[in-house]
Amino acid sequence: MAHPDRLVFLNVLFIIEKSVVWKHFEKLDKTEARCKLCRRSLTFHNGSTGVLFRHLRNAHSEVVEDLEARAKKTSQVESQEEEARKEKEKQETMFLNQFKFADHERAECTLCHQIIVYQGSTAVLRDHSDNHCSGKALADNLNSSK
Ligand SMILES: [Zn+2]
Ligand SMILES: [Zn+2]
Repeated sequence: MAHPDRLVFLNVLFIIEKSVVWKHFEKLDKTEARCKLCRRSLTFHNGSTGVLFRHLRNAHSEVVEDLEARAKKTSQVESQEEEARKEKEKQETMFLNQFKFADHERAECTLCHQIIVYQGSTAVLRDHSDNHCSGKALADNLNSSK
């Protein structure tokens, strides 16, 4: 079961691991790298840094031990930012729900049934929603008509 936060975490960890590997290894050629800490050369395959990372973890644990903590912290921040971004996106597009789209140029406001020519730019629709018949205006309208 992969929780999205877990995926963010693994992703961040992977990126940090890679950057740590190339901080402590010197690339000799496509399949060989030398550890700057103990000068030992290691063979790796197809850009896979797993072997190199394992060496750091086994031989120089001090340079990798806080990686998980770092990744955890970074991924928490990223998850929160992602969450906030989605919420903002949802709010920013909510006004579109009040329109019925006839084609890519015209939309009908379902509140006042006015046809608005928007020509692909939702700013016009947003303006109509904010200034003409927002959800609030509609609610006020309903209340006063009772
Ligand atoms: Zn080493
Ligand atoms: Zn309207």
